[in-house]
Amino acid sequence: MTLTIRNIVPIIKANWIGQNDVAIIDYISIDSRSLQNDENTLFFALSGPNHDGHQYIEELINKGTQYFVVTRIPEDVKEKGNFLVVENTLEALQKFAAYYRSLFDFPIIGITGSNGKTIIKEWLNFLLSPDYNIIRSPKSYNSQVGVPLSILGIKEKHNLGIFEAGISTTNEMEKLQKIIQPTIGILSNIGSAHDEGFQSVAEKIKEKLKLFTSVKVLILNKNKSISAFVNPKIKTFSWCSDDKSADVYITKKNTDELTVLCVTYQEDTFTITIPFHDQASIENAIHCMMVMLYFGYNQKVIQTRMAQLYPVEMRLKVKNGINNTTIIDDSYSSDFQSLKIALDFLENQKQHKKKTVILSDIFQSGLNNEELYSQVSQLIISNKINRVIGVGETISQYKNKFINCIAFKNIDDFITSFENLNFENETILIKGARDFHFEEIVSMLEEKTHETVLEINLNAISHNLNFYKSKLAPKTKMMVMVKAFGYGNGGFEIAKLLEHHKVDYLGVAFADEGISLKSAGITVPIMVLNPESTSFSALIQHQLEPEIYSIKGLKAFLKIAEQKKLKYFPIHIKLDTGMHRLGFEEENLTELIQTLKGNETVQIKSILSHMATSDDLKHDAFSKSQIALFEKLSSQLQTSLNIKPIRHILNTSGITNYPEAQYDMVRLGIGLYGISNDYEEQKELENVGTLKSIISQIRTIEKGESVGYGRRFIAEKETIIATIPIGYADGIRRSWGHGVGYVVINNIQAKIIGSICMDMLMVDVTNIDCKEGQTVIVFGENPTVNFMAKQLNTIPYEILTSISQRVKRVFFRE
Ligand SMILES: *Cc1c(COP(=O)(O)O)cnc(C)c1O
Repeated sequence: MTLTIRNIVPIIKANWIGQNDVAIIDYISIDSRSLQNDENTLFFALSGPNHDGHQYIEELINKGTQYFVVTRIPEDVKEKGNFLVVENTLEALQKFAAYYRSLFDFPIIGITGSNGKTIIKEWLNFLLSPDYNIIRSPKSYNSQVGVPLSILGIKEKHNLGIFEAGISTTNEMEKLQKIIQPTIGILSNIGSAHDEGFQSVAEKIKEKLKLFTSVKVLILNKNKSISAFVNPKIKTFSWCSDDKSADVYITKKNTDELTVLCVTYQEDTFTITIPFHDQASIENAIHCMMVMLYFGYNQKVIQTRMAQLYPVEMRLKVKNGINNTTIIDDSYSSDFQSLKIALDFLENQKQHKKKTVILSDIFQSGLNNEELYSQVSQLIISNKINRVIGVGETISQYKNKFINCIAFKNIDDFITSFENLNFENETILIKGARDFHFEEIVSMLEEKTHETVLEINLNAISHNLNFYKSKLAPKTKMMVMVKAFGYGNGGFEIAKLLEHHKVDYLGVAFADEGISLKSAGITVPIMVLNPESTSFSALIQHQLEPEIYSIKGLKAFLKIAEQKKLKYFPIHIKLDTGMHRLGFEEENLTELIQTLKGNETVQIKSILSHMATSDDLKHDAFSKSQIALFEKLSSQLQTSLNIKPIRHILNTSGITNYPEAQYDMVRLGIGLYGISNDYEEQKELENVGTLKSIISQIRTIEKGESVGYGRRFIAEKETIIATIPIGYADGIRRSWGHGVGYVVINNIQAKIIGSICMDMLMVDVTNIDCKEGQTVIVFGENPTVNFMAKQLNTIPYEILTSISQRVKRVFFRE
């Protein structure tokens, strides 16, 4: 969606004071620190009680941002920027988002309720993403600011949206409704959380329901206290566990780890198993299932996918703690409802027999403290918590209500006594209201992992896969190359995700890569690009499909296959159309046809070739000649052997540049991992890998002193340097050192000085506010692997696959 300043001015009713109003805007920002701000950014200067976006305009102009939505033009930047002056910048952002939303017309699911919004959103994304290109709110972006920012992420390629809306008081939902304009509504669990902004539960329910004023259908738990407020004109699709008049009637049975739901819908009854047994997760899962039913998914698909639901740790995070403890970090909210959810969660996650809860004062309207703490104590007892550590004035007063409770008036007293609390071999739930700053407790208890990790964003992989899928004709199949350990990103985990997304084939380079995937339980067919004849037997045993590229190889394979009395074993025929690496050439075809004619031992599953320059349009004529030769040779094989195998020739950049040559399948590689050499396409991809390390030591050196081997850096002035424990043995090229490359600390670039060592490198942090132990980004969003590759005169493939296996891979979903 291309929008220029000229388009935007009337939408937000701004007064335009600037020069270039035909400038294209492709990024909306409210964060002056964002490294994504650039010359095509429109910055909204939001103002609140604690901050004023107008203060950052000058800094942003110096960094290259030019367009600003403001309520006033600060004196010092008058001549320097381009301004859209409005009365209220937040309202302008919301208006813009509402307009932007109206440009798209695909189904949008809007979720609100007191609990579960984020989990439902994440799970729906997981359940539906094999079939849709989904845009959804990032993290828990559900506020007056978060919702418009989420909506502005919609792109043409999306065909389903999932957005959550959160409100804390009246008159907020109407605004969110205008921005999201949901067509399908979900009302999640209405609890007593966030009650403070409402006069009554009724008022809260009425306000939440305003999200659904123009939905085509509202999905909800049938319940008298809520149904009374639902406008009867709105079509509902309801479920219930005790009222058979609901559209879907559900009963449940808990087993040890799992819950079996018995679902009755349209005279049909079937069961679904989900890997959770706490009430909140069950309700959230049911809401997701309702969407699948509404979308007409069949039982089998619902059953398979629901069984794979996973814990969403966006709010309750599980971490490894000191002395073999496990920490559940819920250090931002404290009300009775969320305590219940957290205790449930503790029970599900617990890794140790012993359970401790660290709890702040509880904020809850409607109950007096006496009653409230009696109820909390009851809850703690029923959850068999071994000890309670209270922090806060009020909980201290009521500590006698608990069995085995130590209480501290404030967090400082807690910290002073920390050593005596002997945390070990236990699961610890840390639950406190924001004001108590329990994150300090979390950081004391958290195990410090002084290691370099490559973080892999699985959501980004799904996103990138869907991006390339959207470029394919509906019938075109997808093979994804996961050779070289998934381009360095992780073999099994990525293969597992691709399996979930139903790709048609995986491709590996060698038989052992395929064997390890098959042994780990991957069931998608796997093609092996370069099978050695010594591995043929193992390959057959593991049902791996060889690429055959020579008469010699074919005969060797046939010999073994015949000994094993195989019938129609799938093989893939590789043609050399100009790459001159592997493959049959035109002159070999006759012999190939002779050998295979009438043969029933093997079956040609596919015919493929590989392009040498699909990324470079300078060689367009050559690429086209490869495609033409592929067409000719593969047709010849098809006719002579009377077969109709899958044909495929395109790799990632081929998908981009030669859409007409998709044939029956494409082979996606580097693009999945978030890297494209096409500038426009790169903007559509999400970053997958972030290589992170930490600062081991900081020191100050005097003018004239040197750093590292060979004294290749000499300080010209007093310089502060930090040492990072990552070096060329981890895959960071030596040529990235000595003033060429940088790492990012606190969003600021720190130049690498001196030579990169085997296990360490040093950076200049003179102008960066940082301390030992702090996180350092080696590559990811900035610097990108693409950028590094350009600087180092190589290609991103080499950078990615060079990251040593000693660097731990950590996989996460946002
Ligand atoms: C690696 C590889 C691909 C994928 O290439 P990308 O450029 O990473 O998309 C496709 N086909 C073959 C034969 C390959 O070796």
